[in-house]
Amino acid sequence: MFDYTTKENCLSNKTILVVGAGDGIGRQAALTYAQLGATVILLGKTVEKLENVYDEIVTNEGPEPAIIPLDLKGATKQNYIDMSATIANQFGKLDGALFNASMLGELTPYTHIHEQVWNDVIQVNLTAQHLMAQALIPTLLKAPSASLIFTSSTVGSQGRAFWGPYSVSKFATEGLMQVIADEYDESSLRVNAINPGATATPMRAKAYPAEDQSKLPTAEQIMPLYVYLMADDSKGVNGQVLKAQ
Ligand code: NDP
Repeated sequence: MFDYTTKENCLSNKTILVVGAGDGIGRQAALTYAQLGATVILLGKTVEKLENVYDEIVTNEGPEPAIIPLDLKGATKQNYIDMSATIANQFGKLDGALFNASMLGELTPYTHIHEQVWNDVIQVNLTAQHLMAQALIPTLLKAPSASLIFTSSTVGSQGRAFWGPYSVSKFATEGLMQVIADEYDESSLRVNAINPGATATPMRAKAYPAEDQSKLPTAEQIMPLYVYLMADDSKGVNGQVLKAQ
């Protein structure tokens, strides 16, 4: 695991947007950030899942979160601009954003990839991330030191048979992260990507249905890197793809 000892309250007074906060790694990141003092904005497509995370945070006496129900597949540039303005109005700034939501699509031979699946995966995993980043950067720059985190994968730096659009979207995610990181290198914003590695989640179960998930690290176990990159300890780290395990 990434070697970082989490400090109590290290995220207090921070407002952090977690995209894809209803399940898997994003759900755990939202709970962890709230436990460390952050006010978390929970964005995702299934409202009930977001409400469950909200309830868990409140039950654990974390700062009251906010919920933004949004499906990245259909969301428009204007939706993200409005969202950024609402966050700026309500919180004054955004200290961190974890771009974690992705879809796997279908694992198929390259010549069998459906055009619709290709388009959906590129829309959710790449174009939505780009539109969100564009809209959120002005609000992130209002914070004294902000962190934007993209999520890649091992297939984002080494192509793999049958992983078609998902793999391509993750290569592009790393490219997008590098472009923004280089452009904002002298600013208060740092931009990086996390490769979580194999982690027990619903997406992993879809990709590897025969696998015994009890042998994999849990989302909770991979949290040290997710906390490090949001905490002030990672100030100055920019343009990197870091492995959570
Ligand atoms: P899950 O599928 O378990 O969770 C993804 C979350 O993103 C869900 O809450 C889901 O919402 C949300 N989401 C998906 N599509 C959309 C959409 N169109 N609009 C809004 N929200 C959406 O994934 P993981 O937790 O496994 O993965 C998290 C990230 O880590 C992803 O970027 C993935 O590519 C990456 N990753 C994961 C690995 C693993 O082993 N788990 C390995 C390498 C990378 P809902 O539940 O409502 O559908």
